[in-house]
Amino acid sequence: MNNAFVDIQKSWDLACSARKNSYSPYSRFAVGAALTLRTGGTVTGCNVENASYGGTVCAERTAVFAAVAQGYRDFEHLVVVTETTPASPPCAFCLGVLAEFCPPDFPIYLANLKGIEKSFTLGELLPHPFQLAKNSTLL
Ligand SMILES: [Zn+2]
Repeated sequence: MNNAFVDIQKSWDLACSARKNSYSPYSRFAVGAALTLRTGGTVTGCNVENASYGGTVCAERTAVFAAVAQGYRDFEHLVVVTETTPASPPCAFCLGVLAEFCPPDFPIYLANLKGIEKSFTLGELLPHPFQLAKNSTLL
């Protein structure tokens, strides 16, 4: 086994553990995410639902927001775990948030409780992310 495979398996384990913390009483669709940092280490997330529905945040975004809040912005890969077959990709909101920090070749591994099922790059899942104009005066 090479190191990348071991890292991804470890991330899958961490995403499965994070999924156990999911607060999803409305959808009953528990999701866990593990975001591996380029500097080493992993930040995890789970979906947190809200009775308003609109206040719900996905596992992928809780992981990204937690990482950014801790001062991390450079990510190696993301593993997302659901219980579905086929494994579910991140939603469009999460892909847009990932595109804010990650390049198009950023690897996203889709997994279920049996293990990693597929991988895509961010660019494959979101080929045309929203961006403010390069010459925008808003930035
Ligand atoms: Zn999402």
